[in-house]
This record gives sequence, structure tokens and C-alpha cells, in this order.
Amino acid sequence: MLKYLTVPVTPFAQNCSIVWCDRTMEAAVIDPGGDLAKIEAAVQRLGLKLGQIWLTHTHIDHAGGTAELAKRHGLPITGPHPGDQFWIDALEEQSRMFGFPPAEAFTPARWLEDGDTVQVGESVLNVRHTPGHTPGHVVFHSPEAKRAFVGDVLFAGSIGRTDFPGGNHAELISSITERLWPMGNDTVFIPGHGPESTFGQERQSNPFVAGT
Ligand SMILES: [Zn+2]
Ligand SMILES: [Zn+2]
Repeated sequence: MLKYLTVPVTPFAQNCSIVWCDRTMEAAVIDPGGDLAKIEAAVQRLGLKLGQIWLTHTHIDHAGGTAELAKRHGLPITGPHPGDQFWIDALEEQSRMFGFPPAEAFTPARWLEDGDTVQVGESVLNVRHTPGHTPGHVVFHSPEAKRAFVGDVLFAGSIGRTDFPGGNHAELISSITERLWPMGNDTVFIPGHGPESTFGQERQSNPFVAGT
């Protein structure tokens, strides 16, 4: 079974998630935006074997610590979708702009496309391409655990910003209604910021997507 722990990192309180297979104790880190010591301490405390980095998108608060964490532990980087290449190229500039520690660009070992899967230990997660907040945004869905790691696509009571370069409001709404809702109303999602919720709850009460 897939287990996870969410560790808020960076001044933006970005929800970095450590996910692992409780049979093999192999782990992946989703969106190591920064505060690497905090992430490493959690991995150690849980007794996990960290083997991979997965990225939903490459804004600084989600990807700022990626190159450094990969280097320290020899981890392959998976994702996001190639539509985010320009955000990777701009990581150094993003870190200056938002007052983050200097962030380095990197090359993913594997880019992701809609319909791909990723695996940690014996747990397989489905990848959906969800553009709108960024062109290359992806989400990771575990049907087994009924959990989805959705980055900045959807939040409890809100949706991702679309006023950055490459953002597109109509595309974001389509990503939510066509690629998240089919995961099921009882699926719990872990957003990039703030508390968890379920898709069913958001379909009822989220002012941006209620009734869709
Ligand atoms: Zn973002
Ligand atoms: Zn974010």
C-alpha cells in the first residue's frame, strides 16, 4: 500500500510529499522545493530508502531543491511534462526574483506524458497531464490509496493561478473537470499548498468549479 507524509517547505509553505511503499520501504519525494534538511530528516525518521524525485511542475517553490537533492543522493528526476522546460531554464531567475536560495536547472531522467505510470516499490501511480497553471503540469494518482498529488492545479476552496507565462484559465478548468473529477468524488487530493480535501467536496463548494 502507498503511504505518504507531507512536509511543508519554503517560505510559500509548499506541500512536499514523501511517498513510499510500505512493503519495500522504497520512497520518492514529490516537489522538493527547498528545506532539504527537513525532507531528509523525515526520510531518515521513517526509515525509508529514498530512490527518486517526482515533479508536478517546476515553479521555484516546487522544484527549487531538486538539483541539489538529486546530486546529494544520486536520485533520478522524473517529470514534469516537457511543456515546463522553460520554467526549468528559468529556475535561477525564479530563485532571485522570490528571494530563494540559488536554484540550479537540471535535466529530468524521464519526462512524463498523459497516461504514463510511475512506480515506487510495489505501488504504481497514474500520471495525468494537467496544463493550465503551467503548460507542463502533471498530477500523480494512486487508485489503490485513493489519493492524488495535484500540485497547484486545485486547492481546498480555490484553483491554481493562471496569470504566469504559459498559464491558461480555460485549460486549467478542463484539466480539473476532465482529468481530476474522473478519479472519483471520494479521492483525497494533496494540493501544493494548504489542507487536503476530496474532489467530491470541491465539486460541491469550490466557488471556481462547483457544479462542474
Ligand atoms: Zn506553481
Ligand atoms: Zn506552488
